[in-house]
Amino acid sequence: MTRPAVFLDRDGTIIVDKMHLTDPRAVELLPGAAEGVRRLNEAGIFTVVVSNQAVVARGMASKEMVDAAMAKMQDQLEAEGAHIDAIYYCPDHPDFSTSCECRKPAPGMLLQAAEEHDLDLEGSFMVGDWWADIGAGVAAGTRTVLISGAVEGEAKVDVKLEEHGLVPDKRVTSVNEAVKWILAMIDKSS
Ligand SMILES: [Mg+2]
Repeated sequence: MTRPAVFLDRDGTIIVDKMHLTDPRAVELLPGAAEGVRRLNEAGIFTVVVSNQAVVARGMASKEMVDAAMAKMQDQLEAEGAHIDAIYYCPDHPDFSTSCECRKPAPGMLLQAAEEHDLDLEGSFMVGDWWADIGAGVAAGTRTVLISGAVEGEAKVDVKLEEHGLVPDKRVTSVNEAVKWILAMIDKSS
């Protein structure tokens, strides 16, 4: 039996985007993130973080440092009664290491998670603040939610979305708002 999931970008979606974050001490939850994730947990929806972490390819951080930052995010969520069920990240970058199937907008991380956790992609949602999040969701066959207002220069997101022919199913300003819409959609389809 497959189940729906909510896939979440990390930087600029769950935590403050500090551009090439490498120090776990810099991890800081965005307003509404813990509450949104907690409501998903309470509704029994599987939560998955899918994050591009080219800091590894760029030689700015080790995989251990990325793992530590993820653990810090999880700790901060748990302190507010929320948790992420599975975490995936892509360490690659075509200019610094290798091209791959996992760096968003490629859907590799979502497909892998679906396979490993028996997730129904068609009934799932991808939430993120960058065009590549929407691209990955569309490529994997999920519905998509764009968090606006978090990324520096929002016009750039719209330019990139248009360039790639992508239209998010919903636009919101926080994870919590995204979750409200997602839960209503899931309710409607059940
Ligand atoms: Mg982001």
